[in-house]
Amino acid sequence: MNDDPYRLPRSVIPTRYTLTLEPDLAAATFSGTVDIEITAGQPTDRIVLNADELDIASVTVNDASATFELDPKTERLIVNAPVEPGMSTVSIAFTGTLNDLLRGWYRSTFKDADGNERVIATSQMQATDCRRAFPCWDEPDFKAVFEITLVVEADLLAVSNGEEIGRSARADGKHVVRFRETMPMSTYLVAVVVGPLEATEPVLVPKVGGGTIPLRIIHVPGKGHLTDFGLDVGAAALRWYQQYYGIPYPTDKCDMLALPDFAAGAMENLGCITYRENLLLCDPSTSTQIEMQTLADVVTHELAHMWFGDLVTMKWWNGIWLNEAFATFMEIACCDAYRPDWKRWATFSLERSVAFETDSLASTRSVEFPVLAPADADGMFDVLTYQKGGALLRMLEQYLGEEQFRQGVNEYLRTHAYGNTETGDLWDAIERANPSAPVRRLMDSWIWQPGYPLISAKLDEGQLVLQQQRFGYTDTEDATLFVVPLHLKIGDTESKVLIESDEQRVPLADPNLPIVVNAGGHGFMRVAYDDELRSRLVGEAISSLTTVDRYNLVDDAWNAVIAGRLGASELLTFLEGFGSERELAVWQAMTVALRGIGRLLDGDAYVAFQERVRALVAPALAELGWAPAGDEDELTSKLRGLLVGASGVLGNDADAQRRCREIMAAPDGVHPELVAAATNVVAAVGDASDYDRYVDGFRSATTPQDQLRFMYALADFPTAELVQRTLDLAMSGEVKTQNAPFLLSRCIANRDHGAMAWSFVRKNWTKANETFPANTIVRMIDPVKLLTDPSVVADVQSFFSEHPIVQAAKTLDQVLERQRVNAALRARESERLAGALAAD
Ligand SMILES: [Zn+2]
Repeated sequence: MNDDPYRLPRSVIPTRYTLTLEPDLAAATFSGTVDIEITAGQPTDRIVLNADELDIASVTVNDASATFELDPKTERLIVNAPVEPGMSTVSIAFTGTLNDLLRGWYRSTFKDADGNERVIATSQMQATDCRRAFPCWDEPDFKAVFEITLVVEADLLAVSNGEEIGRSARADGKHVVRFRETMPMSTYLVAVVVGPLEATEPVLVPKVGGGTIPLRIIHVPGKGHLTDFGLDVGAAALRWYQQYYGIPYPTDKCDMLALPDFAAGAMENLGCITYRENLLLCDPSTSTQIEMQTLADVVTHELAHMWFGDLVTMKWWNGIWLNEAFATFMEIACCDAYRPDWKRWATFSLERSVAFETDSLASTRSVEFPVLAPADADGMFDVLTYQKGGALLRMLEQYLGEEQFRQGVNEYLRTHAYGNTETGDLWDAIERANPSAPVRRLMDSWIWQPGYPLISAKLDEGQLVLQQQRFGYTDTEDATLFVVPLHLKIGDTESKVLIESDEQRVPLADPNLPIVVNAGGHGFMRVAYDDELRSRLVGEAISSLTTVDRYNLVDDAWNAVIAGRLGASELLTFLEGFGSERELAVWQAMTVALRGIGRLLDGDAYVAFQERVRALVAPALAELGWAPAGDEDELTSKLRGLLVGASGVLGNDADAQRRCREIMAAPDGVHPELVAAATNVVAAVGDASDYDRYVDGFRSATTPQDQLRFMYALADFPTAELVQRTLDLAMSGEVKTQNAPFLLSRCIANRDHGAMAWSFVRKNWTKANETFPANTIVRMIDPVKLLTDPSVVADVQSFFSEHPIVQAAKTLDQVLERQRVNAALRARESERLAGALAAD
């Protein structure tokens, strides 16, 4: 007997599923049969597997009819039948519903060219929704072979994990589509999609060791012209990963599907990857760099999983973090190889900062934690898993060396191919490839302890003194120590040290040289220099620092303000020292800090601050000009867009606003970065007729990127009346449920009307929870952390004490703490900063 309600007994093990599914798209139902080959180690009289929200018509075991019962509470099907040691076959017939909740086997809809609603049956099994599509052993370590058949209307496309190997007509005219059997894989990676869809011609990517990988994009009719870029990224990534991993692509084909309704961003189903439309389809001639980079990130992320996740899989859901952290790390590495001009590791700093923000809170969590129920792992799909986890792997890679790290990954994948692993298996494999580095000890200190260190650097008697202390926005007497792999640059000499205690001294041959701690900027830590060491890095010397080093100087300073270690007025002066900066990543950090400072101010003080912003941005924008040079690189164009936005919105610059209006009046042929920036600038000062044009833009856009740009800008308008129209639109049903929570979120982030948007969401709380995907609810309310009016803070904090978000309890705690931190920051700094601005 096994009493664990979340883990099935191991007395029988499934090895092969022969599955036939037949959807009825009009009725939103399906029927199916599955024959499951099982192996028993000893005699038993019960077979226990998962099934939920299915009607079971019949069960046979080795062709003998068996009795069965369903237990909805544990989502199990219990079959009563004698099973002898060795192989048996369980056969089950069942029916179910194609739901509208974007999980299991579900309905996605779109309007065709004639305005008729069309239906797609598509699947999202992770984490535990495969059991809603067919009865199965729905835990990641029950890997098995899947031989899938779909019975569909003759005019529909059908896709699954394996390549189509046969299509025949049945007597009733329906087509029986058979797919090649899969390699042994977990149930959460099964995909079955049926609908009036189109597929591109396959791109044939060479497969290492012989043969080719047919790569296709599958989309709703009429969007084939938006597939070139996704195919190019996909083909490049398949080539690159085969080299990096040193292992051929593990299955026979690669389909990537762009779906109109999708709860997450994308899903790494083996050989049949599903995406939101805007993350796979785009028109490069009208898209911005960030829109294309985001698409490339997601495609490279999902393809990284084909090996790391699909070929080698976590034993249980506690391993989700490593699965996602590793794919995040690989996505950046692969993107960096695909487009070196995007400087992906420099702009990754922005993502690292997002993780820092949460990890600076008392309510942060350790990256890995024990998981009993699969639902306990729902909270793992957050910034600490993706961004912090990815950054920690980057830190390890930079400490070991890129090739040494790669060899460890290769060792891991070869050792565990087709199997399941625990986190430590990766560290052990990397350590076997790098015997001199204490990989497991080092990583355990970062994975099992929450937070991260502030490294303080000072000089003492000709030595460099490095101290570590956990960083927090609020004072903590926290003695947590990390095993810190540290890069030092002393003068022109780089070295690595491992800091394990709270203080370490480094002898200096020449104590007068400039010293960069965390040189290169890849460590997951902040640095506080004493005045002497800091003075050697700023001013003239700053140009000798790498982009990421300079990014970190700005980001560390802004966070010192949040933590109460530096005044906001001093930060503003510090930022004004970066006027000659020309790297995008550094300006990204600067605008984050400027927006944060702006949130501390109202009235005349805000007007005075806007003047300072204009003065800071003007020289850089003037130098770049408003007319892109034909041969400039994409990051320069993107920097121009960032500066235009900073000037027009944050700086309230009338000239920038006028130019942006001209662009919006005649956008054809204007550089996409300028169009995107102008879209936001005009919204921020727009009136009702602008608003109507944006709604039209949202309704008639021909690319997903254009559509989202117009839609999100609807949240930025300056009057209560127009923001209210956006709130109503979000709840009207016209905006897809995959997007509506994010539109409401952007309304809450509106500087002037965020509190109004919050009270709207609060009023519509029940409806939002019934309508929107569960994973989006906490993201919808995330910007309440920006609302610092004391009465709103009290309202938000008390509302959530009575309305917990159970699927994201930890993340909600973090949002609420972040709001309290912001409220304290405003109370501490706003008057002092206003005084300093008035004095200037
Ligand atoms: Zn992933």
